Amino acid sequence: MLEKQSAVKGIVSRGVKYVAGREKVDPAQLAERVAEGRDVILKHKNAYLGIGEGLRTKINANIGTSPDIADTGSEIEKMKAACRFGADTIMDLSTGGDIDKIRKAIVHRSPVPVGTVPIYQAAIESIEEKGALTKMEPDKLFEVIERHAEDGVSFATLHCGITLGTLERLKKNPRKTMVVSRGGAFLISWMIARGKENPLYENFDRVLEIAKKHDLILSLGDGMRPGGLTDSTDSSQIDELLTLGELTRTAWESGVQVIIEGPGHIPINQIPANVLLQKRICMGAPFYVLGPLVTDVAPGYDHITSAIGAAVAGWHGADYICYVTPSEHLSLPGVEDVIEGVIAAKIAAHAADIGKGLKGAADWDYKMDIARTKRDWQEERKLSINPARFDSLYKKHKSAEKDVCTMCGKYCAIKTVEKYLGTKIQTT
Ligand code: SF4
Repeated sequence: MLEKQSAVKGIVSRGVKYVAGREKVDPAQLAERVAEGRDVILKHKNAYLGIGEGLRTKINANIGTSPDIADTGSEIEKMKAACRFGADTIMDLSTGGDIDKIRKAIVHRSPVPVGTVPIYQAAIESIEEKGALTKMEPDKLFEVIERHAEDGVSFATLHCGITLGTLERLKKNPRKTMVVSRGGAFLISWMIARGKENPLYENFDRVLEIAKKHDLILSLGDGMRPGGLTDSTDSSQIDELLTLGELTRTAWESGVQVIIEGPGHIPINQIPANVLLQKRICMGAPFYVLGPLVTDVAPGYDHITSAIGAAVAGWHGADYICYVTPSEHLSLPGVEDVIEGVIAAKIAAHAADIGKGLKGAADWDYKMDIARTKRDWQEERKLSINPARFDSLYKKHKSAEKDVCTMCGKYCAIKTVEKYLGTKIQTT
């Protein structure tokens, strides 16, 4: 039985119990939220991951080849690095090399659930087989979705919400950045060239059949996500979101679990409204945001621009954060970029969980506060998000004063105050 169907029947499934145990939440309440679509349970091999309301904010790391750089070994290294630093899921966005082989290798080796964007492969194979993306037949698209599901992919990004109506709206209200979603761009090109409706929207029942057969989670993509602050929260973005809300209801009626993808590039002050709109229009379905990036002027630092947006989005209710690496807008990320991206997203997700008031979220910080007060450098290192970085900075210089760092040396504020307040400071 599908995860959602069993939750609707009031069954506390193995997956729900597993997630409830890891997240320390009540299994019956979690099953209720899964039944209502507010939480989803992803399955990967014999493990499960929960995403949504009342659960820890999750982070995703995108990896994958490009037409210019296609090496399976490098992608496996990126996957391992991302998981080592705390990625909850991996998305394989490969568009170069032997895409089937790379996906199978990633799914086989990954300790966490894997997602894909099947339109990429369907488009690439159509170009290779027929000479043009616009010659892609809808059957090809559905066949690739099924192929990914059969390989053990846990969730798939499908841009089902772009319609001919959305395109009319876009033409009437042109953007500065038009369309920056790769999958969205493929589909829109196809729709314009063929003069036909988006097959993922028109044949949503076929999407649901595949999802039901494999308990594949639909991550309903945001093909119209803004690609710059100028275009944020515009009519095309909202048009697609309205369609995604309707499709969410249809999917739920079939017992299919849904995640909604969101922007993108948004000024910081518009983030709360974006989360509210998604949650209202999509009836509480988990919200998966790409960043969002809060400024467009920091190429090379977009792991920071996105982490700022992710923290605010998470705090206001976003459930799932797609990392952005320093390479965003510039090149295919390497292992170091992946690590930087994961750490930035993890900091954002953790900050969001504290802001959400998630039970136990601030315990980690409390332990660090105590270690800092005691100047217990070993403990601080152990608790730090990246102990290797801790070492490289802490060991860079040595203070002449015992048990302080070189920031203030013998004028260490904590040590100075300790002399006068003694050991009465509450450290346990
Ligand atoms: S020297 Fe300054 S920065 Fe270092 S532990 Fe003491 S108060 Fe903190």
